[in-house]
Amino acid sequence: MFNIIKTMDDNLSQDQPPKRVVVCGGGIIGVCTAYFLAKKGAAVTLIERSSIAGGASGKAGAFLALHMCDGGPLSSLARASFGLHCSLAEELDVSRSYSFRPLTTLTISVGESELPSKNPILPLWVDGRVKPGEVIGTAENTAQIHPQVFTRAVLAKAVTEYGVEVVTAVVEGVEVKEEGVVVKVDGGGVIGGDAVVLALGPWTSKLLGLSSKFKVHGKKVHSVVMEPKDGDAITPNAIFGAYYPAQGMGRIESNLYARPNGEVYICGALVEAEIPDAPESVTPDPESIETLKRVAGIVSSYLAKDNVRVKSEEVGLMPCTDDELPIMGEVPGMKRCYVASGHGYWGILFGPASGVAMAELVLDGHASIVDLDCFSPARFVK
Ligand SMILES: Cc1cc2nc3c(=O)[nH]c(=O)nc-3n(C[C@H](O)[C@H](O)[C@H](O)COP(=O)(O)OP(=O)(O)OC[C@H]3O[C@@H](n4cnc5c(N)ncnc54)[C@H](O)[C@@H]3O)c2cc1C
Repeated sequence: MFNIIKTMDDNLSQDQPPKRVVVCGGGIIGVCTAYFLAKKGAAVTLIERSSIAGGASGKAGAFLALHMCDGGPLSSLARASFGLHCSLAEELDVSRSYSFRPLTTLTISVGESELPSKNPILPLWVDGRVKPGEVIGTAENTAQIHPQVFTRAVLAKAVTEYGVEVVTAVVEGVEVKEEGVVVKVDGGGVIGGDAVVLALGPWTSKLLGLSSKFKVHGKKVHSVVMEPKDGDAITPNAIFGAYYPAQGMGRIESNLYARPNGEVYICGALVEAEIPDAPESVTPDPESIETLKRVAGIVSSYLAKDNVRVKSEEVGLMPCTDDELPIMGEVPGMKRCYVASGHGYWGILFGPASGVAMAELVLDGHASIVDLDCFSPARFVK
């Protein structure tokens, strides 16, 4: 019924480490997993239905923090991954205007009723109706990357140095057989391997049969990228804003990240959303975009409507789980079928260490970089 477009390695015993691994999904999690699998010697095929980092992984603010997950189960993942981001910055071919950059991070409250404040913790470009909060990160423990540039640079290295093969196709199902795994793609094709990693972001549990084992849901987050006329005035800061609209609509989270090329990125609150069939069908809501632009103009005169060129208005679907922990491990009842998804608010930070952990799990049988036990999909089995 399906055309075989790749054959599996013959007679690979279940005790031997996998040699050929299929990674489904070209977001940061799939790409980092493919990279570290191939670096450890596996022959890797990565399947992406549209463009690499075309989903949340290309639309994120890409703020990174060493310490903000401390005290909980995500702490070691965050710390390991922050370190890997630092070292990858040296290894990847990314221009300085998009590369890893340390930041000072602070909180503010924003509101039409606030008076412009001249507090020394505020960068000069944050000159609007804001009340300063506190410094919550320094250049030692907070940083940023450009998520799409980073993800594509990791894949470029994976392809050129480690031979990862990229296939553009829609994954429609996975079959686990005695002799390996079979990934069914659109057009009736199949791609075989010894193991498969499903890193389809919010779409992961939409694959036939998987939603009975674990659930990944989607939260929409809107973002705007602005290019101020005076980009030189924008210093390396991440600003976590709580916006209180005049009409008493409660509190709206709005985070602003200055980027190294003088641009400013702003994103808003997380809103639970339906997961459409195709990632391209996730479209921005004009009102949410207008709110972000208004907040930017209240925070900074440099970001007022007449002082910026709007470069992009987007929405991304964040892959989330009910217990707010990623899902990483072998799918219960499906030998050599692994999942890596549900990374929520911190997926860009967690990308590299998740990639290493998944590569170790698939090829060595256990992850040494972080303990994956608390992320296992087995936690959802009743
Ligand atoms: C606006 C916004 C701001 C964020 N800010 C930050 C931040 O500052 N710091 C941080 O650490 N994280 C941040 N995040 C979170 C982070 O972006 C995500 O957790 C992360 O990108 C998830 O990566 P992923 O690879 O799991 O999923 P995705 O990026 O969604 O990738 C999944 C891929 O799978 C593909 N796919 C889906 N179905 C199929 C199929 N059937 N066949 C083939 N391919 C398929 C999709 O096309 C997509 O490319 C933010 C997210 C958003 C939306």
